[in-house]
Amino acid sequence: MRILIVSDIHANFTALEAVLRDAGSFDTLWCLGDVVGYGPQPAECITRLREFNPVCLAGNHDMAVVGKTALWDFSTDAQEIIFWTRHKLKTTELDWLNTLPDKPLNIGHNITLVHGSPRDPVWEYLTDPALAKENLEHFETNFCLNGHTHYPVIFRKPWDDWRVLEEMPRVETPIHLNLDRMLINPGSVGQPRDEDPRAAYATLDTETMNFTFKRAQYDVAAVQKLMKELKFSNRLIRRLRFGQ
Ligand code: ZN
Repeated sequence: MRILIVSDIHANFTALEAVLRDAGSFDTLWCLGDVVGYGPQPAECITRLREFNPVCLAGNHDMAVVGKTALWDFSTDAQEIIFWTRHKLKTTELDWLNTLPDKPLNIGHNITLVHGSPRDPVWEYLTDPALAKENLEHFETNFCLNGHTHYPVIFRKPWDDWRVLEEMPRVETPIHLNLDRMLINPGSVGQPRDEDPRAAYATLDTETMNFTFKRAQYDVAAVQKLMKELKFSNRLIRRLRFGQ
């Protein structure tokens, strides 16, 4: 089975379409949350994603849009778009966001899915090996896939070592999910923050258990134009070009 793994689409429909084109055929779609927020096309992203009957987790932005989490943890820019998104979406779209699970999900294949981290699946940012190490006892499978930080990374605890190592993944170089425990972030489709503006995603072949990080080029300028027309903040518009 070939699985397409996406995270942090953030209402960037152009980036999502680029990923779907680039990925080719797949059997199942896993989404690690934050379908909406920051970007200009939340309804389009929800509709497109739902065509694939995805396994999709709730991200902090998804929850904020439906009033499930307080807004004071968000930047002013983010809050503005959360309000805008809430008014933009139809009831059916809001209902769908409302159904997204906000707990760690054991999906089989020895894999747990979360948005943030295993111990705090909505909010914690897994930014360094020490945090990753603390989280190892909070999930039972060998592997955990997470999003939220918007940059691709692997935190690996080799089976014969007590340390947790941080690895910067290479695009198109499959990593084998083996005996080591790993927390893996595929990066963000709609707002990458690793200084590479291309949409980030990943694929998993469940027969070989090979996990592959991928990038897809998309028309960033077109998305920025749309955001400008909607009077989104310059900071949000600018960061897409630099992948920040
Ligand atoms: Zn996000």
